[in-house]
Amino acid sequence: MKQNLLLTPGPSPIPPFIREALGRQIIHHRTDEFKEVLGRVSQSLKEIFFTSSPVLILASSGTGAMEAAVSSFFSSQDKVIVIEGGKFGQRWKEIATRYGLDVVNYSIDWGSAPDPNYLKQLLESESKVKGILTTLCETSTGTVYDIESIGNLTRNREVILIVDAISGLGQDKLLTDEWGVDVVVAGSQKGLMLPPGLSFISISKKAEEFLRRSNLPKYYFDLNLALKSYQKNDTPFTPAVSLILGLEASLNFIREEGIHNRWEKFSKLARATQEAVKAMGLNLFSFRPSNSVTAVWAPSSIKSSQLVSKLRKEYGISIAGGQGEFKDKIFRIAHMGAIDEDDLVVGFYFLEKVLKDLGYSLKLGSSIVKLEEVLYA
Ligand SMILES: *Cc1c(COP(=O)(O)O)cnc(C)c1O
Repeated sequence: MKQNLLLTPGPSPIPPFIREALGRQIIHHRTDEFKEVLGRVSQSLKEIFFTSSPVLILASSGTGAMEAAVSSFFSSQDKVIVIEGGKFGQRWKEIATRYGLDVVNYSIDWGSAPDPNYLKQLLESESKVKGILTTLCETSTGTVYDIESIGNLTRNREVILIVDAISGLGQDKLLTDEWGVDVVVAGSQKGLMLPPGLSFISISKKAEEFLRRSNLPKYYFDLNLALKSYQKNDTPFTPAVSLILGLEASLNFIREEGIHNRWEKFSKLARATQEAVKAMGLNLFSFRPSNSVTAVWAPSSIKSSQLVSKLRKEYGISIAGGQGEFKDKIFRIAHMGAIDEDDLVVGFYFLEKVLKDLGYSLKLGSSIVKLEEVLYA
């Protein structure tokens, strides 16, 4: 295998300066040295979440923070609206159902985004809704949702808005406080250029009131404990020390580059990817494409799983296949975290090659020309 290039929506590549920070000798977590790290990292997290509220760090993959959100902010039989337009909306539904919440499912076609007007009607027709659970970037379909408009619906109601930004954070614009988002959930292995193992959760003042009232069972993910420790730059249990050292390196880098600049960069990478795909004669899957991941219909004669495995086995390039009923129908190319222009050029070079080998007819180089046109314009 020539290389190991991850163009997948998690894990995404880890740059050398973060690998170096991750590989440092461990320090003890109950020390001033580590507390200072936690203090600095907490401040930087607020900056990239665009919130003045606490952002807690948990030792789990992203789903852990999703579960923490459900078990910490709600009480048994609370009614919540879940937007289900892909694999990760489905996950919200599964977690909420497992905890005995009364789930109102707003199901939309995969690849489409929720309609804020319909949500408004739902909120007005359903009594006593306590929360809306949704997604910034629905990774399974490469679709970005209009969180700002949804925030306008919940801001002045006794309803909290919880957004899974696990894949979107860092690429797709998210202004937590300004948009009235109460809880944002994220993970380490996507836009933050780290290995899997950390999750994050921000808690607005309104969400904090929900947290105090919640009666659902919880122990490891009891955010009351985590919040109390947070005030002292501490954690209730052993934190993932090495990952947090890596996180500091990541956040410093993002701050230097500037989050607004990064949003612009990924918007360009996304646009280049979309155009390159079309130049090969293929179609986009999403009607509202995100800046984090692009989903593409595979040619009808080719199973996307076959394309994905051939690309990885023969050329060391990892892209993602489809999920659920689109498993063999679509493939997904990530542009997040440390993925850059060069990576996309290399990825498309081999993608063309494999498509051709699998019998798809295309003009070699067509996607590369388009990529360069958008990227280096
Ligand atoms: C990756 C992802 C998750 C799941 O995160 P894990 O770290 O695998 O637990 C949840 N939601 C979205 C939108 C994701 O992209």
